Amino acid sequence: MEKKTFVTKAQIEEMVKTYPTPFHLYDEKGIRENARRVKAAFSWNKGYKEYFAVKATPNPYILKILKEEGIGTDCSSLTELMLSEKTGITGEEIMFSSNVTPAEEFVLARKLGAIINLDDFTHIDFLKEVAGIPEKISLRYNPGGYFQISNSIMDNPGDAKYGFTHDQMIEGMKKLMGYGVKEFGIHAFLASSTMTNEYYPTLARQLFELAVELREKTGANITFVNLSGGIGIPYKPTDEPNDIAVIGAGVHKAFDEVLVPAGMGDVAIYTELGRFMLAPYGCLVAKAIHEKHTYKEYIGLDACAVNLMRPAMYGAYHHITVAGKENEPCDHKYDVTGSLCENNDKFAIDRMLPKIDKGDYLIIHDTGAHGFSMGYNYNGKLKSAELLLCVDGSVKKIRRAETPEDYFATLDFSNL
Ligand SMILES: *Cc1c(COP(=O)(O)O)cnc(C)c1O
Repeated sequence: MEKKTFVTKAQIEEMVKTYPTPFHLYDEKGIRENARRVKAAFSWNKGYKEYFAVKATPNPYILKILKEEGIGTDCSSLTELMLSEKTGITGEEIMFSSNVTPAEEFVLARKLGAIINLDDFTHIDFLKEVAGIPEKISLRYNPGGYFQISNSIMDNPGDAKYGFTHDQMIEGMKKLMGYGVKEFGIHAFLASSTMTNEYYPTLARQLFELAVELREKTGANITFVNLSGGIGIPYKPTDEPNDIAVIGAGVHKAFDEVLVPAGMGDVAIYTELGRFMLAPYGCLVAKAIHEKHTYKEYIGLDACAVNLMRPAMYGAYHHITVAGKENEPCDHKYDVTGSLCENNDKFAIDRMLPKIDKGDYLIIHDTGAHGFSMGYNYNGKLKSAELLLCVDGSVKKIRRAETPEDYFATLDFSNL
């Protein structure tokens, strides 16, 4: 599949008059249209709700757009809860799916009325002690072993730190019912960045069967099943995109085959998608500021791994378009690098691209999720601005770039 950008060279040239590169740019139209496709895919389920994984794109303007589309937030830290509250997202619009949870986070989650998704059996008494047990609660399940679809191993939950074991789910529900819980949800996140329409349906079937079993063994009132995140996006031009309508229909089929016959047709489906909601609708725009000819050909950008860590951290592929050179032949082989004193600070290695000249704008695709948010400040490099390309074509600054003052704000030089 050809990878297109949602922004043109002419638009970038206009933007840089006000906002210098590098910056992350988000596409409001794309975000809204995709959110509507996701909701349509699950519209067969009366209680369906998406809780956007805030860690993917923790910006209140993005959260507000999603809120307008009927989407809540999935939080896992104090500041993510605070961000939700500041955006006007409270109560059961928040799913609190955390792990290794500090007491103060449970306290705030309870104060906001968030739905708490417990990660561990021992958290039951911890929560009781620090913040009290709510009437409605969710438990995160880890089936152990390998998560397989047909004969292929998708991931290794047995090696993951998250969730209750099968037997702990049973004991946990009994214990929580003893503490007054009236309504339960179950949750699992068993594979990340999946590139098959079968992931959610396979996971859903496992969770639906577990829900039926748990109700039989404990008498618990299970009102929702949370399929969490994990649906991937086509980062590479050769990736076959997931079809959310097919995914929704696959979950529907499992629902009709497992839950409906068990008299549990009222169960609501929840999702906590991050990547699928935002990744394709954001890009990192950077300028080529240097070229270097040594043992390889290098193009140096004004962005670095501080702005987008995924290539350095996971060797992740991010497609690159040279603005205005979309139709030129990709007959030059480059390493496209940032300026960190780390040799893994490369947005692309041995990438075939059109001839790049200093001053060209490079559009690094699919940075809308787990892009800006993973940023750090190594080498004292500063985080960029975030801009929103609005539906009406205007551009709005939704986060300013960091300044040296921000970097020094935690230091007190007067005691030196
Ligand atoms: C990270 C995360 C998500 C979102 O994952 P994506 O891969 O972005 O869909 C959802 N739920 C929880 C608990 C997470 O930690």
